[in-house]
Amino acid sequence: MKNILITKAVDVFNKEFGGHSRKTVKVLAWEIRHDLGSVIQIDQPNREQGVYIWLPYPPDGQSIPEIALEYPGEAGRHSNTYASPGLGRGLPALKLFVHSETELNDSIAFIKAFRDYLPLPEIKQENTESSFPSLVDQSQMPIIEARVERREAIPRLIQREVWQRDGGHCVECGTKEKLCFDHIVPFSRGGNNTIRNLQLLCERCNLSKGNRI
Ligand SMILES: [Zn+2]
Repeated sequence: MKNILITKAVDVFNKEFGGHSRKTVKVLAWEIRHDLGSVIQIDQPNREQGVYIWLPYPPDGQSIPEIALEYPGEAGRHSNTYASPGLGRGLPALKLFVHSETELNDSIAFIKAFRDYLPLPEIKQENTESSFPSLVDQSQMPIIEARVERREAIPRLIQREVWQRDGGHCVECGTKEKLCFDHIVPFSRGGNNTIRNLQLLCERCNLSKGNRI
């Protein structure tokens, strides 16, 4: 493990949730509740500092963190990689992309609330220079009060309809790999969970869109 944040995440998970229940060359898995597993990828990302944490998709009405990618259940995945409670084939999932220790701590709080059936807290995305390079001098820009919009879990029925409408592939590049739900108008800009505002994008197209906004 070259990635320091992955090592840190594994340490914190072991401390907070007991030893891992499963280990492969790619992942470590924890059983946090009988129906709530969590998986840390230990083989990637390898190009940048960060850690991927998988969780079952939260129940309807719960908040979805800004740093989460939302994976449709229909996308399917390698069964041995995600053989954890709540993360089986055919079930939607969340992947948290954690970039910093603060985000890691917030993610732990999120998972504990998930475990204890509490309202799920927000995970603040740290606007580090590395993830959001800014080419303009923001010191002269007027301060606009950030609109706090709560990003809610996409109801399963809507997930299925979006999957079917988009034919199970990325609407930008056509791939069927690593598909996730994308809000055409982001929640932070007033978007919502309607079928019209959702589309399937692969992870790559999704992240490159994020960088354009
Ligand atoms: Zn794509």
